[in-house]
Amino acid sequence: MKRVEELALEKVLICDGAMGTELQRHGLQPGECPELWCVEKSDAVRAIHQDYRQAGSDIVETNTFCCSRYKLRKFGLEERVAEICLAGAVLAREVAGADQYVMASMGPTGEFMQPIGLESEQSFYDAFAEQAAAFAAGGADAVIVETMTAIEECCAAVRAVRDNTDLTCIASFTFDPLSDGRYASMMGVFPDQFVKAALDAGAHIIGANCGLGAEHMLKIVEILVATADGKPVMAMPNAGMPILESGVTIFPEGAEQFGVKAAELITAGASVIGGCCGTTPAHIAELKRIVSR
Ligand SMILES: [Zn+2]
Repeated sequence: MKRVEELALEKVLICDGAMGTELQRHGLQPGECPELWCVEKSDAVRAIHQDYRQAGSDIVETNTFCCSRYKLRKFGLEERVAEICLAGAVLAREVAGADQYVMASMGPTGEFMQPIGLESEQSFYDAFAEQAAAFAAGGADAVIVETMTAIEECCAAVRAVRDNTDLTCIASFTFDPLSDGRYASMMGVFPDQFVKAALDAGAHIIGANCGLGAEHMLKIVEILVATADGKPVMAMPNAGMPILESGVTIFPEGAEQFGVKAAELITAGASVIGGCCGTTPAHIAELKRIVSR
């Protein structure tokens, strides 16, 4: 198989939709560690991967978003990073077989680097390197460093993937709209700053995920495409603008509506496309229909 970043220059590749809501559908309880299901409830995780594969995804994404030692520490599982990351990649590989790619999810640590926080760049790098090595050992093709908002953290993760593995590295930021019409991450990083820093750190593909739905994503993708220096651009919008309904966050966009907006993202130049919060196998099936027509 070609590398993901090579194939993404030739055709549109479809990723999975949300993992968290699907785990809840399978019985994940509040306060439970979702990633531990890779080890303890692997049948449910496998079933979710299969649902997305059946919907038409080209790239199966692992259930490892919060698998750094920083995040697992909250569950007393920090010594099991390698085991859980490896199990997540192995599970995804089982479903992917030889004709679908495996992309390992690597989310933020939830901590801040000095001087805002207490952590050093080296300790972030080491934590990401531990995950990256386990993903490679479990058979992943790519790592997606996703939902990032701090540039130093994102770059530490990208370098950890590039230095310690031969895997494709996707770097993906989450941006919010500013009152002046521009976009920036929660930590004040503009899309063009992110692109330059992520490419310098060694990212093969750059992208944006999560955030406030596909309308905003379209403007962000336009900036990414204009600054990506010919590298593929990935977009993973949420299913619309989140609304709070009696204390519960709802993502209002159905599959059809999501598909219409995704088509615009593809026209704008996104060539790796999937769904973030609120998206389901039905959303991915609609993506597949649009890409195939
Ligand atoms: Zn999201």
